[in-house]
Amino acid sequence: MSSTDKPETITGGCVCASVRYTVTFPPDHDFANSCTTCQCEQCRKNTGSLIFRSHRLPKSAVEYTANSTLKVYSATPHCERGFCTNCGSFLFWQRDNRDYTCLTVGCFDGPALERYGPLLTAAKRHLFCEREVPGVTDHLAGERFAQDDE
Ligand SMILES: [Zn+2]
Ligand SMILES: [Zn+2]
Repeated sequence: MSSTDKPETITGGCVCASVRYTVTFPPDHDFANSCTTCQCEQCRKNTGSLIFRSHRLPKSAVEYTANSTLKVYSATPHCERGFCTNCGSFLFWQRDNRDYTCLTVGCFDGPALERYGPLLTAAKRHLFCEREVPGVTDHLAGERFAQDDE
């Protein structure tokens, strides 16, 4: 992979494929700074994982080609967590009053991850580090935020 080899589009979706999307990256998309981890308790419980990664994109960059089972849940006001009501996949979180969405990188399709893994998933920004599990999840290198980065 050369340094100029960047995806123009990728696809993704939930486990049962009732929710499918295509991402079209803006020409000036900042791959290096768009992926974050989050260790807040909501993300942990939502994913069942201690560390969760998402990739931030303009909402307009994501086109849902199938969404019959897509539902959002708000654990806190203005923060929506998108999931499939059939298989339970956690697809994104976003604020209802912002123009970006944060897609769960684990829902990107395998070929995109295999070809562009570092561009899509290398997280240099880490959210809710105040909730790190000492000795287990406090090893992340990069910019660390006690809570959100907003
Ligand atoms: Zn599903
Ligand atoms: Zn979180």
